[in-house]
Amino acid sequence: MPDRPVFRFAPSPNGELHIGHALSALIGYQQARAAGGRFLLRLEDIDAARTRPEFVAGILEDLRWLGLDWEEPVLFQSTRMPAYRAAARQLETMGLLYPCFATRSEIEAAACAGDRDPDGAPLYPGLWKGRPQRHIDDALAAGRPCAWRIDMAAALRTAAVILRMRPLTFVELDAGGVPQIVEARPERWGDAVIVRKDVATSYHLSVVVDDAWQGVTHVTRGRDLYAATDLHRLLQVLFDLPEPVYQHHRLIVDSDGRKLSKSAHDTSLRSLRKAGVGADEVRRRLGVG
Ligand code: GLU
Repeated sequence: MPDRPVFRFAPSPNGELHIGHALSALIGYQQARAAGGRFLLRLEDIDAARTRPEFVAGILEDLRWLGLDWEEPVLFQSTRMPAYRAAARQLETMGLLYPCFATRSEIEAAACAGDRDPDGAPLYPGLWKGRPQRHIDDALAAGRPCAWRIDMAAALRTAAVILRMRPLTFVELDAGGVPQIVEARPERWGDAVIVRKDVATSYHLSVVVDDAWQGVTHVTRGRDLYAATDLHRLLQVLFDLPEPVYQHHRLIVDSDGRKLSKSAHDTSLRSLRKAGVGADEVRRRLGVG
């Protein structure tokens, strides 16, 4: 571990921040301050089609309004594509990635009903796994776009060798800040997409590469990303990267008990601010600070 713990807040600039994001940012910031640690801001803007400059500006403005500051420069993931490409190549060299040309509807049609990944997407039914090279060459020659998927069974075998058969786990700080060892079950993601068709990376790959590159020791994020940590731990083991400590905080839900979405403007920090709600009031409502 480095001398000073490193915390980060990593929003995606494809919408306005809402009070759920404020909770993540405030918890991470407060913990960083309490631990004498560093607090970093990373904008996860790999999705060029959904990223907008006004969302980037809005995020910075909202966080300043909340009373947060962070180390400069802010890291923009769109500047890190060569690092993601290199990481994907490493997995490919290890024989753990394969190209998949299947469309969403082909996957939907071939998937077993009820077999879903933790995000609710159909579990990939292996359509392009183990295909002969000439099928791949034909698809490439026809200019069909492809994603790159992890061969989960092979990745788990490799990880087991690296871990000398110890279980794959992560450390989760519970609500009282006490570390708990949690067994990771990345297999529930099946052969997940590591390199998307439209972008030469994925959330999972970029987050793992950048948390390590930025020396992040503490990842504070919502419980909606709890299952993603299983896959992140697997990638960290395969890349031989250090293991951060995780804390997945409670989610803020709307009056119907649903997770807040970026389109729910009434809970965006910007609209709260416009309605005359102060940052202190937001912190009080969230019970932070
Ligand atoms: N960019 C992700 C989001 O806004 C969060 C990533 C993370 O904290 O690991 O949902």
